[in-house]
Amino acid sequence: MAEKLLRFVSVAKQMPDKRPAEGRRHDFAEIYAEFDQGRAEAQASRCSQCGIPFCQIHCPLQNNIPDWLKLTAEGRLEEAYEVSAATNNFPEICGRICPQDRLCEGNCVIEKGFASVTIGSVEKYITDTAFERGWVRPPTPRRELGQSVGIIGAGPGGLAAAEMLRRRGYDVHVYDRYDRIGGLLVYGIPNFKLEKAIVTRRAELLAAGGIRFHLGVAVGRDVCLADLRARHDAVLIATGVYKARDMQMPGVGLPNVVAALDYLTASNRKGFGDAVPAFDDGALDAAGKSVVVIGGGDTAMDCVRTAVRQGAKSVKCLYRRDRRNMPGSQREVQHAEEEGVEFVWQAAPDAFTGAAAVKGVRAHRIHLGMADSTGRQTPQKIDGSSFTLKADLVVKALGFDPEDVPAMFDAPELAVSRWGTIRIDQRTMMTSLDGVFAAGDIVRGASLVVWAVRDGRDAAEQMHLYLSAKASAALARAS
Ligand code: FAD
Ligand code: SF4
Ligand code: SF4
Repeated sequence: MAEKLLRFVSVAKQMPDKRPAEGRRHDFAEIYAEFDQGRAEAQASRCSQCGIPFCQIHCPLQNNIPDWLKLTAEGRLEEAYEVSAATNNFPEICGRICPQDRLCEGNCVIEKGFASVTIGSVEKYITDTAFERGWVRPPTPRRELGQSVGIIGAGPGGLAAAEMLRRRGYDVHVYDRYDRIGGLLVYGIPNFKLEKAIVTRRAELLAAGGIRFHLGVAVGRDVCLADLRARHDAVLIATGVYKARDMQMPGVGLPNVVAALDYLTASNRKGFGDAVPAFDDGALDAAGKSVVVIGGGDTAMDCVRTAVRQGAKSVKCLYRRDRRNMPGSQREVQHAEEEGVEFVWQAAPDAFTGAAAVKGVRAHRIHLGMADSTGRQTPQKIDGSSFTLKADLVVKALGFDPEDVPAMFDAPELAVSRWGTIRIDQRTMMTSLDGVFAAGDIVRGASLVVWAVRDGRDAAEQMHLYLSAKASAALARAS
């Protein structure tokens, strides 16, 4: 089968077909088509099966990438799926939305001069095909263990842990204050990156495996952490980070100066067909407006591209550093540019102008000075460089911090870091409270889906060890 591999010299890198920008500007459908089998096999065959696969080392899940590429190249798709699913609960989601240019593909070491293997697209193809052919099964355990687990948060971290624990035979209950399963997968990330049917398909599978979801239940409001600790043998906190970072400047309180997640959640809800008063009355709808988005991360990219699709008159992105130094994925910037977004690099806002509603963003130009201790050049204001951008809607996409979880959960003894993230023992993943574990963004700070999945899996393993010890101790006491 060796002739099926190492074809990076004769086969050029090809992504799945991308819809032309003019067409995709007008709808929220995903922008990439699926590979067909021939193209998936051809692209997988470019892998040179490295002895030390840097792609795998730089995948947070340590996915066995060379093996599933080899199996795909050989047409052994079901086996490829089994290998891929062994380390990742949601390969079809990671294949779509991981910033591969910074992770697996960015570290693919095909010889210099040849572009990387399209790892993410092959990963997505394998699992989408597995769903189509009925190979993806609910996480039904062989036997019930009789212990129960409460998981707070139905985002990727909580769901990955839920699946792993359910497979082992625990009675798993997931609590979420949202009305749908998926966390930021459903209400943060827009459809053009991840269509919601992909998340719903997973959610249904988890429910079919016996995981019990309690939606619309906010811990701290409807039930407290102490209740969940009494109800379950162990608890996992996977609540993500939701406090939007803000800026202090004149006009920041004007209507139509909105937070990114409010804006994106409203758009995602409209995609589901929900009634959203703040969207329906126009406040969170960019249609016909001059939109300015402030920030340079992936959330900012999602906002500008959402505004384009809502029919904005113009969309500008204001970011204080240059393109090379922005935190967002370069691929996303390219998509945004193709779709007509204008980037105003090296510029920062001073004030939002307007009386009853925002009319403009007054900003200044930035010079990038000496590198700081993190190696990034420090932004410095250029005197006399003030300018104003017209704006009817300003979206602030400056990042997220954790809410005050100990206060929210009425659990002051729950230890947090100075950033407000939950502190865990790095080995056991347990918080300062016995039997209470934590995973995902609420531990790391705002991060990536693939890291939340990794944390969820690791937490499940540690919770299993804890619960096994607890069961053994109970048995010893009883005998
Ligand atoms: P979350 O996904 O935030 O889920 C937490 C869940 O906990 C939510 O459902 C919430 O409702 C629930 N919850 C919170 N508090 C309570 C409570 N008190 N009671 C009950 N339930 C509660 N990552 C990528 O890898 N690729 C991307 O393209 C990408 N795009 C992004 C775009 C946006 C706009 C944003 C905001 C983030 C993006 N991310 C992306 C980051 C990624 O979404 C997160 O890192 C990931 O979702 C974190 O998973 P989590 O399970 O820790 O938390
Ligand atoms: Fe790459 Fe993400 Fe898939 Fe890992 S999970 S192989 S980083 S796309
Ligand atoms: Fe294949 Fe690239 Fe990974 Fe090497 S680094 S094993 S060529 S995908």
